[in-house]
Amino acid sequence: MFETLSQRLQAIAVRLRGQARISEADLDSALREIRMALLEADVDLAVVRSFMATIREQAIKLDLLSGLRPGDQVIKLVHDQLVEMLGGQRYDLAFSQQPGVLMLVGLQGSGKTTSAAKLGLRLRRDGKRVMLVAADVYRPAAIEQLIHLADQIGLEVHSRPAGTPPVEIATSGLVEARSRSMDVVIIDTAGRLHLDEPMMDELVRIAGAVRPDQTLLVVDAMTGQQAVPVAKAFAAHLPLSALVLSKMDGDARGGAALGIRSASGLPVAYLGTGERPDGLEALHPDRLAQRILGMGDIVSLVERAQDQMDTEAAEQSARAMLESRFSLEDFRSQLTEIKKLGPIGQVMQMIPGAGGLAGAAQAAVDDGELRRIEAIIDSMTPAERRQPSVIGGSRRRRIAAGSGTTVADVNRLLKQFDQMQKLMRQFSKGRGALPVGLGSPPGR
Ligand code: GDP
Ligand code: MG
Repeated sequence: MFETLSQRLQAIAVRLRGQARISEADLDSALREIRMALLEADVDLAVVRSFMATIREQAIKLDLLSGLRPGDQVIKLVHDQLVEMLGGQRYDLAFSQQPGVLMLVGLQGSGKTTSAAKLGLRLRRDGKRVMLVAADVYRPAAIEQLIHLADQIGLEVHSRPAGTPPVEIATSGLVEARSRSMDVVIIDTAGRLHLDEPMMDELVRIAGAVRPDQTLLVVDAMTGQQAVPVAKAFAAHLPLSALVLSKMDGDARGGAALGIRSASGLPVAYLGTGERPDGLEALHPDRLAQRILGMGDIVSLVERAQDQMDTEAAEQSARAMLESRFSLEDFRSQLTEIKKLGPIGQVMQMIPGAGGLAGAAQAAVDDGELRRIEAIIDSMTPAERRQPSVIGGSRRRRIAAGSGTTVADVNRLLKQFDQMQKLMRQFSKGRGALPVGLGSPPGR
């Protein structure tokens, strides 16, 4: 997300911070670069103009040039304006009825069906009973797609036989949800490739029949600036609550996402960050601004970890590490846990100072490095994983063949693992107790 923009702003930040004093010319050129970076990321022109005007005005007011650590102050201004640009506060997805009704609208392919499942999963994690309603009757496989996604995460779908009008599906879904004491109903509707009247009419009728608490417009962030007129057109007919920007994981042009709040007047509630049902992030303007500026976002990372990771497995391997019995088995399970946090590039961006490595780390993964390591470990016997020293030449050849890698790959992994174990042994030496938070030592 925002990789290019983020890299450029970070480079500017590093340079400014390195200067004890900045001249007016320095400030001007930094501001010019920030402006270019925003425009190249496809942030709306008018939004960039007012963004830069505010920063310039405040920089003058603060009398930055004579002050201490001017670089930090400029970055702080940029940070605060980014937060402002993103709407200041997190959007609150509130429901006032029982069941609450959430309706998803948007063009075809924007990500409505996927977002329905993602939101369902999120609300269920918040302890709500959720039912999905399949009101897209036009695309042949639309209902199956929703059911397939819902099955993956164990959510129920209300659907009606072919030929049922969408308004009727939506109202019968609401009736069923009410009778079964659901907390939230999520209605997935049909989109078209382009805005058209019949689609809008149908959505207006569905909304009139079910009176949604929340009408979320899903827009594809990869369409860049085109998202703005789309949002305006939908807003002209429907009482939109907020936006979901899907496919933020996709493209450097995600910058449109930064400007869309001011350009459309609608808050951005969620960002879609992947195809899987867990690829959804609530937009916290302050945290996102920090991430863009390379300050990391540990809070979101920890939240992801809490949602996704098997804490028991994590504790077990932490203990094994401290007791110098960390095996390839533990290593394998750690890789699985880390992958659950999402694409590694996204994870790195959340670690303060590690954002610059995001691209390289993601490239290594995309390159198949992680998969190769997993395949190698998977091709070992349990005994070999526990005690890699038994893996001699012929076993190495067998493992390489079994995992579709080369003996050199296997050698490299074993060597790296051996170094890792040595490090852990040094670390755990002279350290009796576990660090706070890793649980009590095993009573075995
Ligand atoms: P709909 O026509 O609006 O219901 O769109 P879908 O939910 O069917 O999504 C269209 C395509 O975009 C599907 O292939 C999805 O897997 C994909 N998609 C949706 N959201 C995201 C996202 O946040 N990231 C990525 N990479 N793909 C997404
Ligand atoms: Mg759909």
